[in-house]
Amino acid sequence: MTVPSTVALSLEFFPPRDIAAQERLVRAAKQLLATHPRYVSVTFGAGGSTRTGTADTVRMLQNLGCDAAPHLSCIGATRDSLREILTAYREQGIRRLVALRGDLPSGMGGDAGELRYAADLVAFIRQETGDAFHIEVAAYPEMHPQASSPHADLNHFVAKVNAGANSAITQYFFNSDAYFDFVDRAQSKGVTIPIVPGIMPITNHTQLVRFSEMCGAEIPRWIRLRLAEFGDDKASIRAFGADVVSELCQTLLDNGAPGLHFYTLNQAEAPLAIWRELDLGTGS
Ligand code: FAD
Repeated sequence: MTVPSTVALSLEFFPPRDIAAQERLVRAAKQLLATHPRYVSVTFGAGGSTRTGTADTVRMLQNLGCDAAPHLSCIGATRDSLREILTAYREQGIRRLVALRGDLPSGMGGDAGELRYAADLVAFIRQETGDAFHIEVAAYPEMHPQASSPHADLNHFVAKVNAGANSAITQYFFNSDAYFDFVDRAQSKGVTIPIVPGIMPITNHTQLVRFSEMCGAEIPRWIRLRLAEFGDDKASIRAFGADVVSELCQTLLDNGAPGLHFYTLNQAEAPLAIWRELDLGTGS
């Protein structure tokens, strides 16, 4: 199945922790690349992954023939260290970045670094490298958990756009109204860049609840109840998850979302199951 060129499909991976996980990632990436994503991205810092892990994984994905974008966070970083990373990324042929503030590891205090917010990082990248990179930033339809209000969070998002972001990827959500409301409010403030919904496949109840509590994504009550009812029946959870998430994706695309960004969790099966259920207007 080929995604039409009007749908900006992208895939997110995280750096594998060991050789076995790396081999699994290569297999999953090869399967997923058959759908011709516009680009793939690789997380940074999340789950203890290092800059080298991110750069190595990006290189591996570049070698598979895709436009690969490292995530870059500024928390705990100095301007000098960021400058060094940007130089190395340019030399590696990277032309796209996902620019984030990031989070300090839980339970650890520490130095927040020289740049406080993602908007400062976007401004710094532009100042240092001009238009060398296409910059993606994060958006939160259900509000970032640390924001003081939806209004304040929206203004902070607009600041990232005004600092030079080219497009945005949202935190995942299961309620399309939250996404369309966010896009409307952003556009009413003059934002014109694409805001691509982040899509989380549902494959594991416990993991989904844990992630959602951390990032402030709401799991609707009816979905929680259905997942709880399935207990350890993984096949039923996957089938139900593919139905729910593909319906969400269809609603998003039918109502004007410019694309889909899949949090693959380094697995091919769940995103592929969702795509198979989508009517992408390709006739395939
Ligand atoms: P910001 O945009 O800086 O916002 C952070 C908070 O500060 C928000 O509450 C915002 O409202 C507030 N804020 C912003 N500016 C101001 C201001 N001037 N004054 C007061 N408050 C302000 N994390 C990782 O560690 N690694 C990753 O690879 C990673 N990838 C991600 C990819 C996507 C698509 C998304 C949506 C999130 C990702 N994250 C990742 C998580 C992200 O780092 C966290 O959500 C982090 O807490 C916020 O990052 P941000 O870039 O959105 O920050």
